[in-house]
Amino acid sequence: MTDAQVKPDPTTNVTVITGASRGIGAATARLLAKRMSGEQHHLVLTYATNVEAAQSVANQLSSFDIGISVIKADVASEADVLAVYSEVDRIGRITGLVNNAGILDTISPFVDLTVDRLERIWAVNITGVFLCAREAVKRMADGPTTGSIVNVSSRAASFGSPREYIDYAASKGAVDTMTVGLAAEVARQNIRVNAVRPGLIHTDIHASGGDANRVNRLADNVPMGRGGDADEVANLIAWLLSDEASYVTGALLDVGGGR
Ligand code: NAP
Repeated sequence: MTDAQVKPDPTTNVTVITGASRGIGAATARLLAKRMSGEQHHLVLTYATNVEAAQSVANQLSSFDIGISVIKADVASEADVLAVYSEVDRIGRITGLVNNAGILDTISPFVDLTVDRLERIWAVNITGVFLCAREAVKRMADGPTTGSIVNVSSRAASFGSPREYIDYAASKGAVDTMTVGLAAEVARQNIRVNAVRPGLIHTDIHASGGDANRVNRLADNVPMGRGGDADEVANLIAWLLSDEASYVTGALLDVGGGR
């Protein structure tokens, strides 16, 4: 189903994936659609600017028996986030959130970081993640089904990304801290909160930083000797969303080939 074909049903379970138009978010959408086909599930896919890419991901899922909505939403905008959850409420009950949308800016030494840049990184990578989780928790708490939130952090939170993006790395450190705190706060309300921390993954995010070849350039530093694929991160996200991870919460799980 596309958004034009959504049939509202309060018994439908909904998973929101932010930043699903490409990369890790799109890979997660494809995997969840395949696994949840026929389970009366609905995926809400969000994107920031690229409607064609988002619609293309939705079209790839049309052969599966799962509902799909595509919504434009800047996660740094509270109004946009609330609009996403209005769509969730119209469709059914949220059981999963993949808090995936994230940005980096161009590779930069620390001394050149501007206030505008810092504020945008914090707004998308921290405030956006908080807002999406806040609205999910409000709806998941003490519900008839368990809820699972997966925050997409980064191995950069541990390494700090010197000479590249310390701002980005610090924002992911905030995501890790939020994951641990929120997991403990809502653990008795049937909500699990975890983070995945990808290492070097082949996606377009590196081109945004001005070095499309970054993963291959740094692959020798990875014990496994290669970058990862978005599907390899999606597998971990899907597991954390599933009941197979029923006793896992507050975990920060690395998916970085040993790095
Ligand atoms: P990507 O290929 O650049 O895709 C980013 C996605 O986020 C796109 O769907 C984009 O939408 C969306 N987005 C960008 N700004 C947004 C905003 N303000 N509000 C809502 N959505 C927004 O990135 P990726 O590599 O898949 O990364 C996904 C997540 O994994 C990010 O949180 C990233 O920090 C993290 N991560 C990635 C790596 C890696 O090596 N790739 C490593 C560690 C962590 P549009 O297409 O519409 O712009």
